[in-house]
Amino acid sequence: MTPLVLVRFAEIFLKRGNRRHFEELLVRNLRAAIGPGGGRLVRGYDRILVQDVTAPEETARRAAGVFGVASVSAGHAVALDVDAIVAAVVEVVARERNGARTFAIRARRANKRFPLDSLGLNRVVGRAVQEASALRVSLDAPDLEVGIEVGHEAAFVFAGTRPGPGGLPVGATGHVALLLSGGIDSPVAGWLAQKRGCRLSAIYFHSFPHVGERTKEKVRELCAVLARQQGNVDLHVVPFAAAQEAVRDGARPPLYLVLYRRLMLRIAERIAESIGAGALCTGESLAQVASQTLKNLDTINRVARLPVLRPLVTNDKNETIVLARRIGTYDLSVQPHDDCCSLFVPPHPELKCTPETAERAERRLDVEALVADAVARTEVLKVAPERRAGDAPT
Ligand code: ATP
Ligand code: MG
Repeated sequence: MTPLVLVRFAEIFLKRGNRRHFEELLVRNLRAAIGPGGGRLVRGYDRILVQDVTAPEETARRAAGVFGVASVSAGHAVALDVDAIVAAVVEVVARERNGARTFAIRARRANKRFPLDSLGLNRVVGRAVQEASALRVSLDAPDLEVGIEVGHEAAFVFAGTRPGPGGLPVGATGHVALLLSGGIDSPVAGWLAQKRGCRLSAIYFHSFPHVGERTKEKVRELCAVLARQQGNVDLHVVPFAAAQEAVRDGARPPLYLVLYRRLMLRIAERIAESIGAGALCTGESLAQVASQTLKNLDTINRVARLPVLRPLVTNDKNETIVLARRIGTYDLSVQPHDDCCSLFVPPHPELKCTPETAERAERRLDVEALVADAVARTEVLKVAPERRAGDAPT
């Protein structure tokens, strides 16, 4: 028996014409996720195998976090031979039984030349396990489930399957510019865009000195978590204080919020175009804060030509929090930070700012100069994936 990790993929099946490309992306992303010491990836027909694994459970755990993965099992490769399969299953049952009283064998035969079909294998192997272990068969609610997959070069035996996150491999659908603040929502929005195959670049509007350097550091750390899904994330840090001061000095306070956001969108679009990103993405959710009323969203959105993805638009805050915890961004996001959107903003901002009102206010500002200047002074940081416990030093 040779340790092996088996990765099953998700929706990739549906994309017939692109299947090869999607699989290559998935392999690349898996390689980044499991790390240099994690094992050697081999593409099978409808599976990806990880061979030469030294820590199968850890490799399986990491692979199970990669978008495009349906499920992952850590187990053993055995020869294509009924007796070898029986012996392997008996050994796995002996090792994994942990007080189990019932079991089920779930065989799947991809290799139709193998002499036993899946029902036949279930029966033969099941009988041997009963004899060797005194466990009873329960097909509906077994305490222990052992899977067998009969491939073309080897069979695979495993106890337990981890669900993957589904979705599409990052990179499969395009390049998206995420407006990333230090808050709870935008990292989750970015993660959901990655789930649908988008590779991210991030844009952060930094209103230094009104906003402290710690907030920028926090955004960098959030990027490092998102980078786990794609290798590196380019973080574009836009100096935003001058634009906000111009709004403060030239417009009515209730309009500040909408005007800031329109400037952000214009700047983000310009950056997106320069890096070849095909859409923007934000953490906005309908009616969560003053800038997210339907009217204000409309007025903000008018300045963008690129599509703006808003994966959280119908989420309640607590639904987003559940996701943030799962992704691992929540604890970072709740650390105190300065929010540039509230700079100089009065307690009661305009909730129904029309596009005409915003345009009229903007005529008193040199919007083009503010946008061009912010873009010109943007710095780009390359953010590598966050290192995790157990990672080999690089
Ligand atoms: P978040 O939790 O992501 O900060 P939010 O619920 O606080 O979102 P807003 O502060 O109104 O809502 O921001 C809405 C969206 O605008 C954010 O989700 C983010 O995409 C973008 N955004 C806001 N501030 C910034 C910033 N300083 N830099 C980059 N993007 C920002
Ligand atoms: Mg915020």
